[in-house]
Amino acid sequence: MGKIELDEQPFDLRLCVEDALDLLAATAGQKGLELSYRIAEDVPPHVVGDITRVRQILVNLVSNAVKFTEQGEVSVTVNLPEAPRRQPKSLLPSKPTPKTIHFCVRDTGIGIPLDKQKELFDSFSQVDASTTRKFGGTGLGLAISRTLSEMMRGSMWMNSAPGEGSSFHFTVAMAPTGEEAEPAPTDLSDHKVLVVASNQSQAEAVVSKLAAAGMETTQAKNIKEANQTLDGGRCDIAVIDIKLGKEDGLELVRSIARRPPSSIPTVVLLAPKGFRLQDVPDIANSVQGCVSKPVRRAQLWETLAAPYRTAPPSWAAETQVSVKQQLSEQLPLRFLLAEDNVINQKVALRLLEQQGYRADVANNGQEALDAITHSPYDIVFMDVQMPIMDGLEATRKIRELETKLGSARTRQTVIIALTANAVLGDREICMQAGMNDYLPKPVRPDTLREMIE
Ligand code: ADP
Repeated sequence: MGKIELDEQPFDLRLCVEDALDLLAATAGQKGLELSYRIAEDVPPHVVGDITRVRQILVNLVSNAVKFTEQGEVSVTVNLPEAPRRQPKSLLPSKPTPKTIHFCVRDTGIGIPLDKQKELFDSFSQVDASTTRKFGGTGLGLAISRTLSEMMRGSMWMNSAPGEGSSFHFTVAMAPTGEEAEPAPTDLSDHKVLVVASNQSQAEAVVSKLAAAGMETTQAKNIKEANQTLDGGRCDIAVIDIKLGKEDGLELVRSIARRPPSSIPTVVLLAPKGFRLQDVPDIANSVQGCVSKPVRRAQLWETLAAPYRTAPPSWAAETQVSVKQQLSEQLPLRFLLAEDNVINQKVALRLLEQQGYRADVANNGQEALDAITHSPYDIVFMDVQMPIMDGLEATRKIRELETKLGSARTRQTVIIALTANAVLGDREICMQAGMNDYLPKPVRPDTLREMIE
């Protein structure tokens, strides 16, 4: 091998790992393998090094792992191999000291016989000629990878148990730039998250990302454990792997949708690349979004934060200041929210909570009508399109009911339409049905407040 020059630049270590894994995501998905990564919290997020070479080694190891594994998983972990040694004190201003960063690619594949392990890193070494015919390859990948890691002041080694799997390790010494990891885009640190995954590496990959953003996490390995946690207390978000061993994660989503609205968490799915939410229309309304495996941090955060994004950026700060002047203190009101989509329910309930209000929830027009028959409400937020009975018909029926009750109820319920497609003319249709006003979705906190006032 000729002399290779290293190109050392600051780079984002996480993105390097994510990009390497992305290249193998489709193949891993097709083979039904769980692919995930986890970076320990003390690993510097930005380092100076040769990103192309580090990625090259990772791609080589992960593609071997995916190639030689028929079932189970391939997981990548990155950590600092030892407790940081105390540096000798120097009076001279020094460059940031490189840290040894340890990467491990672990698989549950065919493994490598002990007698073949020693020569594995030699050029043109393959475990046996038949693997070349079956899997292709040159027998050069590991030799090159080891040379590259040594050039980057590291080393490479492996261990394997035939029939159980292999772990390939390498280290690279790279100096931290000191730049911090970017914070989560929306602060969800007060949120309780349930992570439902039967594959432990996949669960840990998700949990570590959520924990780093300050969220409180609980894990469940199957549907039973998940239900126990949901029955046991508050849960704001449930991240559910659609493949729960022999169980189907989508069944859990369906059963969650049947819970009482106040105990329904925001549901986010984990699915292999290529899975499309449109293909399971019956759950589409109960799911906030889908994150494809291997889980990239940014995509996970984005999907979790999406329902809270209706707020303009200044809103969070504003409500902090005005907690004392919540509308509920000046205007005590009883609310009913008629909305079939559980995500929209959650968003609306949260917006009302910001003003100090709690609302009862009806999942369709019929439930809204039943609720109003039993007790009076001051304001009803009424989704227009709902199954069983839509918002317009429910409004007409509520107005009929009020006429019948006459003076038994002193005030008429204020009904405000919620509609997704703010088409001109919608307003008129709503008013004709007997509604008082109209709010286009997504509902913004300031317009909601104005409307109530
Ligand atoms: P190739 O291009 O042939 O994959 P490598 O140097 O990357 O070259 O790998 C050499 C040989 O080591 C492979 O042909 C295979 O026999 C064995 N090998 C490498 N990685 C694994 C693994 N994760 N599991 C089982 N065998 C492996």
